[in-house]
Amino acid sequence: MKDFEGKLFVFSAPSGSGKTTIVRHLLAQEKLNLEFSVSATSREARGFEVDGTDYYFISLKEFKENIKSDAFLEWEEVYRDNFYGTLKTEIDRIWAQKKHVIFDIDVVGGLRIKKKFPDQTLAVFVKPPSVDELKIRLKKRKTESDEKINMRIAKASVELATAPQFDIIIKNYNLEVALKEAEQLVSDYLSLE
Ligand code: 5GP
Repeated sequence: MKDFEGKLFVFSAPSGSGKTTIVRHLLAQEKLNLEFSVSATSREARGFEVDGTDYYFISLKEFKENIKSDAFLEWEEVYRDNFYGTLKTEIDRIWAQKKHVIFDIDVVGGLRIKKKFPDQTLAVFVKPPSVDELKIRLKKRKTESDEKINMRIAKASVELATAPQFDIIIKNYNLEVALKEAEQLVSDYLSLE
């Protein structure tokens, strides 16, 4: 049998683009053999989120200690005082299980991972129909205050401009189509039938 060659799948997009839905869909496809890279964050957990599954929820102090000890593969202050980062141990943990890693990560972090593992990473940008549509989706989600929504929208245009640096752009105008396309892309990258 061929040795296991661990791959990395980065899904990046502005908040509200639907990348989390796409990532969850891919994780549910057993044949793709994917495992979610659980990021560490200093933001508070939303009601339904589980520590260790959605994120490792840690204090700002602990986050900064991890930066100091060089524990992160990449980290970002995505929003003011909200830090997010990928612990180096995540990739080891997942590859040790002979699974491929999938990331739901911001654009800067996503491009950093691609740069660190250029030959093993497929970096995908998920493009929303428009910034207005993003606003509608974020409002519907009802997980953030208006102030936080505005902060995310303000960032979206900057993030959209990074799309050409990714290996591929998936347009999430119709979710069903985007899910199929994402599945195909991962499958092709893994050279599965
Ligand atoms: P949320 O607060 O909505 O869960 O995530 C906010 C943003 O941070 C999203 O774009 C999410 O993908 C990104 N993010 C999550 N984990 C990481 C990470 O480990 N590193 C970086 N750079 N961004 C992350």
